[in-house]
Amino acid sequence: MIPEIAAGSITSYAGGQLGQDSIRVGTAVRARGLVPNVHLTCVGQDRQTIEKTLVTLQALEMYNIFSISGDWPKAAMRTAVFDIDSVQLAAHIAETRARTGTPFFISCAVSPFKYQREDLLYQYLKLEKKIAAGADMAITQVGWDATKFVELKKYLDERGIKTPVLGNVFVLSRRAAERMNTGNPPGCWASDELVAALRKESEAADGGLQGRLERAAKSVAILKGIGYAGAYIGGTHDAKHITQIIRRAGELAPRWEEIFDELQFGKKDGFYLYKRDPQPKPTRTFLPTVMDATAKVLPFVPWSKNVKDSPMRRLFQGAFRWLDRHPRLSHWFERFEYYGKKEVFGCQNCGNCVLGSMEYVCPQTCPKQMRNGPCGGTFHGACEVIDQECIWVKVMARAEASHAIEQLKVYIPPPDRRLTGTASWLNFYLGRDSRPGRPKDLWKSGAGPGRTVPIDEDEQLKTAGPSAADQALAARSPKPAAGGAAGAGKPAGAAPAAKAGGEMRQAG
Ligand code: SF4
Repeated sequence: MIPEIAAGSITSYAGGQLGQDSIRVGTAVRARGLVPNVHLTCVGQDRQTIEKTLVTLQALEMYNIFSISGDWPKAAMRTAVFDIDSVQLAAHIAETRARTGTPFFISCAVSPFKYQREDLLYQYLKLEKKIAAGADMAITQVGWDATKFVELKKYLDERGIKTPVLGNVFVLSRRAAERMNTGNPPGCWASDELVAALRKESEAADGGLQGRLERAAKSVAILKGIGYAGAYIGGTHDAKHITQIIRRAGELAPRWEEIFDELQFGKKDGFYLYKRDPQPKPTRTFLPTVMDATAKVLPFVPWSKNVKDSPMRRLFQGAFRWLDRHPRLSHWFERFEYYGKKEVFGCQNCGNCVLGSMEYVCPQTCPKQMRNGPCGGTFHGACEVIDQECIWVKVMARAEASHAIEQLKVYIPPPDRRLTGTASWLNFYLGRDSRPGRPKDLWKSGAGPGRTVPIDEDEQLKTAGPSAADQALAARSPKPAAGGAAGAGKPAGAAPAAKAGGEMRQAG
């Protein structure tokens, strides 16, 4: 009935609540004549479960997927399954698309509404990674700051990125704004000024409804004026409201610049990329300086960003091969490596060390175990899950201080979880681990479920012993094919698959 509507998005795990099954709801939505855009999160799903979901979507001819990390599950307390991250998810869907010819259309999320310097820079960098991984479209987080909408558009334009972006327009009630003012749900934020405006608005006879709808209509008009591909309207389930927003936005669109300042509810002392920076630039610290220096002098070490074949590297490989043949010795080496790295980096013995690609911050110290950048759930640079600064703030600060931000764009593949509890140095030199430039295809080979280690209970992470892990690995690994390593995946940093096209896929 409303021809401007291209699709209906079906949320999953919004705010960390279990909610309804998004595929089931998507099927019902499609039966009513609307194209479903199904949210697929990384919450509570290992690789095999995600693979099964993709097969189901394929069979149902539901091709539009919103690929996101997802909020921390409310019921899970301090532990939850996060086997892969949203960049790895987008890469895998794109790879499935290329391999099977299924016309999946992948959307991804981005939040320009981050006001902490490193947090924001990483949001944009991660968006680039998602697009390189195969995402066809981006959808922003909710926000009421027109300058930030412009900032994101400018960032993409400057880099020649033509990927369409939808701006999120949420019909915000006073109560929802008050919650968002405290950072709930994760990643959503409403400023004090916006809350005050909504409180005043809610005193009207209609409880502020018309004011809310008018603000949403203005947001849509401004997005159109800035050059967004469309709006992603939420916060109301009433078709009459949606119609009113769209019609009114059409009326307001020609004078979007006049109303631009009515959508300025940002953070006054917050970071804006194209404005004077109120926050001090990060400086180099001791640990990354030492690690970078050693990697420069000894380019064959596991944390080197530029590992090359050399006589020294072959010598080390020989030594580790010998160590690997002596289970007791390699077990002690694993203990030595683990306890050393635990003290310095908070190592949790994942066996697939990517410290060198993450400015010497361990990805396992992120509760969601992201390897390619932060999720959208941070609150002014703080972690959504535990009381600590987001680890990605430190990664970005170190990279910026070393003028190495570009290096963070490398695609980090999912870890081989069968290696948990084994020595990562050994895995590195013997070519067993999954790392940038050497990803393993772990989607069909029974890589085991992902898990999040309780952050302060890493003592529970007793090694299974290298011999047991190695035996399991040897039994499961396919024989290497002639001319290449078995299970070799796509090259790091490369766009993993061809794009499916430029518009939402109409099912059936
Ligand atoms: S081996 Fe894994 S858990 Fe340990 S420091 Fe490296 S990335 Fe972190």
